[in-house]
Amino acid sequence: MKIPLIAAAAVVGGGCCPQAEAFVPTSSKISSAAVGRSHAGSSMLRFAEAASAAHRHHQPASARRRRSVPSALSMKSQATRVKADAPSGSAATDDVKRVYLLHEGNKDMKLLLGGKGANLCEMAKLSLPVPPAFVITTETCLEYFKEGTGNLPAALNYEAELKVLEDDTGKKFGDPSNPLLVSVRSGAPASMPGMMDTVLNLGLNDDIVQGIIDSTGNERFAYDTYRRFLNMYSDVVMNLDKEPFEEVITEIKKKKGVKLDLEMEAHDWKEVVDRFKKLNPNVPTDPREQLRGAVLAVFRSWNNDRAIRYRSYNGIPDEWGTAVSVQAMAYGNMNDGCGTGVAFSRNPSTGENKFFGEFLPNAAGEDVVAGIRTPQPLEEMAEKWPEVYAELYKYQEQLEKYYGDMQDIEFTVENGRLYMLQCRNGKRTAKASVKIAVDMVKEGTLTQSEALLRIPANQMDFFLHPTLDPSADKTLIGEGLPASPGAATGKIVFTPDDAEAMANIGEDVILVRKETTPEDIHGMKSAQGVLTALGGMTSHAAVVARGMGKCCVSGCTAADVDIAGKSLKLDGLELKEHDIITIDGSTGEVYLGTVDRRSAAEDEDFQTVLKWADEARTLKVLTNADTPEQAATARSLGAQGIGLCRSEHMFFDPERISAIRAMIVSEEKEERIRHLDTMAVFQREDIKGILKEMDGLPVTVRLLDPPLHEFLPHSIEDVQALADTVGKPLSVVQDRVAQLQEVNPMLGFRGCRLSVVYPEITEMQARAVAAAAAANKKAGLDPKPEIMVPVVSTAKELRLIVPRIQAAVADELEKAGVKLDIPIGTMMELPRACQTADQVVGTDGVEFMSFGTNDLTQSVWGFSRDDAIKFIGRYQEQGLLDFDPFARIDEEGVGGLIRTALEKARAKQPDTKVGICGEHGGEPDSVQFFHSLKFDYVSCSPFRVPIARISAGQAAASEALEEKKLYRESITNVKRAAIINAKKTDKTD
Ligand code: PEP
Ligand code: MG
Repeated sequence: MKIPLIAAAAVVGGGCCPQAEAFVPTSSKISSAAVGRSHAGSSMLRFAEAASAAHRHHQPASARRRRSVPSALSMKSQATRVKADAPSGSAATDDVKRVYLLHEGNKDMKLLLGGKGANLCEMAKLSLPVPPAFVITTETCLEYFKEGTGNLPAALNYEAELKVLEDDTGKKFGDPSNPLLVSVRSGAPASMPGMMDTVLNLGLNDDIVQGIIDSTGNERFAYDTYRRFLNMYSDVVMNLDKEPFEEVITEIKKKKGVKLDLEMEAHDWKEVVDRFKKLNPNVPTDPREQLRGAVLAVFRSWNNDRAIRYRSYNGIPDEWGTAVSVQAMAYGNMNDGCGTGVAFSRNPSTGENKFFGEFLPNAAGEDVVAGIRTPQPLEEMAEKWPEVYAELYKYQEQLEKYYGDMQDIEFTVENGRLYMLQCRNGKRTAKASVKIAVDMVKEGTLTQSEALLRIPANQMDFFLHPTLDPSADKTLIGEGLPASPGAATGKIVFTPDDAEAMANIGEDVILVRKETTPEDIHGMKSAQGVLTALGGMTSHAAVVARGMGKCCVSGCTAADVDIAGKSLKLDGLELKEHDIITIDGSTGEVYLGTVDRRSAAEDEDFQTVLKWADEARTLKVLTNADTPEQAATARSLGAQGIGLCRSEHMFFDPERISAIRAMIVSEEKEERIRHLDTMAVFQREDIKGILKEMDGLPVTVRLLDPPLHEFLPHSIEDVQALADTVGKPLSVVQDRVAQLQEVNPMLGFRGCRLSVVYPEITEMQARAVAAAAAANKKAGLDPKPEIMVPVVSTAKELRLIVPRIQAAVADELEKAGVKLDIPIGTMMELPRACQTADQVVGTDGVEFMSFGTNDLTQSVWGFSRDDAIKFIGRYQEQGLLDFDPFARIDEEGVGGLIRTALEKARAKQPDTKVGICGEHGGEPDSVQFFHSLKFDYVSCSPFRVPIARISAGQAAASEALEEKKLYRESITNVKRAAIINAKKTDKTD
């Protein structure tokens, strides 16, 4: 396709423009701290640990700061060096294809051409007006890292493709009389919005800018473009500080008495250009050298800090690399007949089936993101340029039908001509994702299974978290754009680091910024919500927050945000750090203080999706609940029973903890039994209540597993209180507490080890379970209790303990005159138990096994659950871990051991019931793994039950579709999609 570009040109967005990236769900990261068993007594320790970990996870600001501009750049770092004789022109020495023209690729080649490149190819194939481009493969990027020379791979040669771009546009790269300018953009196989680099308007120098003036007669445009290029190249390729460049523009605007870029005239931009050249005289003037530098910069950006962090948050493999697309520019900033914009085929916030978007006349893509000017709704473009609008409307319809998913489109209008610069499956809110999926099934675009696979399971907790109660009292203090729905209340913080540090100590915070940038990502992730003063619906804050399922109000222009002074002025009020506000991302409203909220769980579309999942799944979803209230909540969210009731959690209440402490520090058996009797009363009543809430469904009560450090008193006041309770002198209790202190409590005197040493504890518990069940049964209920033995390492432990449980249960039931089956099972949370699983399940009376993947991960990795938070982040940043194994199951290591255990156990007892009750039971990728191993159930915390239901449904649905070879790329599972794409790519190649 030949597209005559009037002049060379400006591409909207790019790597700096996150809005057009395809949706990648933010995988839920339950932090390691969440699986540490943070309970009474250890909170201060955790506070200190979390704070120091937060500190260590981030480089000091000084280390992250960029170099400032030297007066003359005589020295370039190794990383930024561009070898003058680098190999873009040298002949390839092998037959590896490193560069693709658009007609040579297709949408299924994302692994090789990146999402952006593959979709450009596809749009060109559909004869949409795409500026000519070529794409350098992700493999070439990997080659660059492998060679490690700092230069482009010797075999990379794009001269022939550059020539095609020249022929297609009728322009020449580096020719002042008719110059071709290009954009150089990153594009990974999975969307990494704004994380990597882009250089626009490349191919300019003093002679060429004059050529543009001569050919267009538009001096203002030429210098505007040149200053953009110099700025971006200095920043992205040469890694210079942006601020001095921005200061130049601010100074000139001030001198001239104007505020907007639009008010700047040709001679103003020319002055900016002159000053930029003084700031950085070392931008290469040879366009080919510029191009090499930009391609290298894009390659390098695959491994910048924020990209690495983003990949680890999103489980994107480091081994993928980024592609680089080199594309002829289309200009939105030439004059009033030009513009640039972003559009979605459906509303990404609500899911409404209505074409939606924003555009900025006479602007380049980066202006849309920068938030300096507020973009106009597309409806205004329809009035201004009806024909262009109609064409765009037609393409978005076509693309949505073609991809079978909501599309996010970037476009530029150059002198009335529309250019399509990018299309992607659009990011959307949790609410929009379910509405779009349900609507597309109704419209006949997707089958129920396909639609189910479009749901980002991890974001579904949006429906479980509250929206503002319309009848609540509230004080409105500001209004912005409803950028990402949901409602959040929290303490104001002004920096991402503060957000992270506060979140690490359990505080809810609202991150308040003028605008956000990719550097803010960890703060956005930690905050409950984000409020920005600048930026539209497609600003960085809006797009990233939507992707994270996080509530966001952007463009609250009345807000005067002073980051350094840590103050927010709004509605005549001055709010300081840690003052509380509430934001409503569905309406854009900002309120003072806390506002009552309510659940969105009743949403009809959400219920439909859950129904689909339940129809598809084979895995049962149980819950981890320790109180009748939690049991009731979980049941209302669809839990099919309790897979883990941690019996020690029933003793956290201040009035109960003294009973368990007294029992723990007892010196004699009689004394211990006395305290156990007190505990038994609580235990029986709680279990009765839980069984009642879960009537007719299994309730697995786990025997006491209290790591001692969590239950022993720490402060002198607590020790004194305990001494008072047990009626002993302080010094005696102090000695006993000292005796019980452990060096490695998580590997210490806990779990079934307590039963071995103190059988009376187990007896009390077994009796409490049996008595509670018997009472309920007598009351006409249908209790289904089960008893589970924790921290088992050898079948011999079970051989000792199980008969004791059986005897106590039998005795209690007989006394009550009730017949009831109370199955006994074992937890599998230590490597030895897994390795000897045949003996473990072969133990008489053992009917089920439940993998405790928290302890199993701890013991397989040798990472302490309580302490790993201090270094896991650094492991992820340095690529040693792709994800936190306490949050997502490590399929290779921990999973390998689970496989071994299953094989042995099933060989011995094929019908053994198998479950998992670690935190992984509510994490989508892990649920998929347990489905693949044919587990009977997963058990997770109450609020993750719907996520687990959807994940289990997706696992079954994708398996069925894959079996039938009907699988269509799902935006919810980049990993699987990539594997399938890889297969297709192999064939294509
Ligand atoms: C586990 O170890 O995975 C488990 C569920 O037990 P806990 O977290 O209580 O140690
Ligand atoms: Mg455990």
